[in-house]
Amino acid sequence: MRRVYLDNNATTPLAPEVFKAMSPYWLEDFGNASSTHWYGQRARAAVEEAREQVAKLINARADEIVFTSGGTEGDNAALFGVAEAAPGRDRDATHGKHIVTSSIEHHAVLNAAKVLEQRGVTVTFVPVGATGVVDPADVEYAIRPGTVLISIMHANNELGTLQPVEEIGRIARAHGVVFHTDAVQSAGKIRVDVGELGADLLTLSAHKLHGPKGVGALYVRKGTRFRTLGYAGHHERYRSARTENVPGLVGFGKAAELAREHLDENASRLGRLRDRLEAAILNEVPSVKINGDPARRLPGTTNLRFEFVDGEAFVIAMDLRQVACSTGAACSSGSLEPSHVLAAIGLSRDQARASIRFSLGTFNTDEDIDQTLAALPDVVERLRSLSARYDQQAAGSRL
Ligand code: PLP
Repeated sequence: MRRVYLDNNATTPLAPEVFKAMSPYWLEDFGNASSTHWYGQRARAAVEEAREQVAKLINARADEIVFTSGGTEGDNAALFGVAEAAPGRDRDATHGKHIVTSSIEHHAVLNAAKVLEQRGVTVTFVPVGATGVVDPADVEYAIRPGTVLISIMHANNELGTLQPVEEIGRIARAHGVVFHTDAVQSAGKIRVDVGELGADLLTLSAHKLHGPKGVGALYVRKGTRFRTLGYAGHHERYRSARTENVPGLVGFGKAAELAREHLDENASRLGRLRDRLEAAILNEVPSVKINGDPARRLPGTTNLRFEFVDGEAFVIAMDLRQVACSTGAACSSGSLEPSHVLAAIGLSRDQARASIRFSLGTFNTDEDIDQTLAALPDVVERLRSLSARYDQQAAGSRL
């Protein structure tokens, strides 16, 4: 039986066109993009073309794109780079400064904020409501003298929920605070325009949009105070320090171009497939709830709570039926702690453990949905039959 991959928020398969575009840059055009000779110039031209392609995806200028080693580095760089560059009250790089972020950010933001906290920065983690949406009024309320940065993600990786980033961007601007948004999950799936979002910094990652792993970008609006992380050469106009990953960047550029060219058609196709999968599950399987906001979310993501089902057991059972899905963020897989995102929307430990994320990508088809639906009700029924609590509930409803 063929395998079905419904874990595209963890990573996506490389598009064949991307693979083809990258190929010459391993063996033939292997130059260092900073070298003066022919090899270097070939590499430099390829990197600059990729920068244009990535910039176009988010309607930015090419000279505002800083390439990174992925979303994690982009998020870390945004938080540290802005917090440390902002003028402080004293000569200490962080003391007296304040950052506003949310309780459902990716760990690349959350843990960077926590390290900054240990260094003397005060951080406000604004909560979210039951559907996983940040209230812009909470963000505005948190701003105070000394607030140097607001960092709120565009789309949540576990729920797919979209945040009111435009409104938060307007608030940040009105208060003169730098605004960063993590668009790792939204870019290439829905329209992302740095002007419309009012973002001063925006994080991207190639492997979430059918590009290669270990490559990403941070958009830094011209004029934003930002301190580079690495200390070395003059790559990326002094804002990043490393020899460019030329094949990776070429792949990122091609993936960004493809995503932009097919954005609307992919979004509507993925939305249709996701809705078909979700509707059939809700129809055929009892006691299933949608986590997050059903109206404001990425087209290809659904996070469903199967009451009385152990999520990890579900993922393994589905894998044995050739369907790959997940209990949430890939970087938290295997962790015994419930997801911080599901806890933030008010789910109990048991409810969080019963939650499954299905995330679709460009290469999913109706056949994939058919195969998933052919296995899923049976898997849920079998796992529930092993649950003593489900037995008691079923007995209760028969009384
Ligand atoms: N931000 C979000 C919202 C993500 O989903 C991820 C990856 O899962 C990251 C950041 C980290 O990106 P990368 O895997 O490229 O380091």
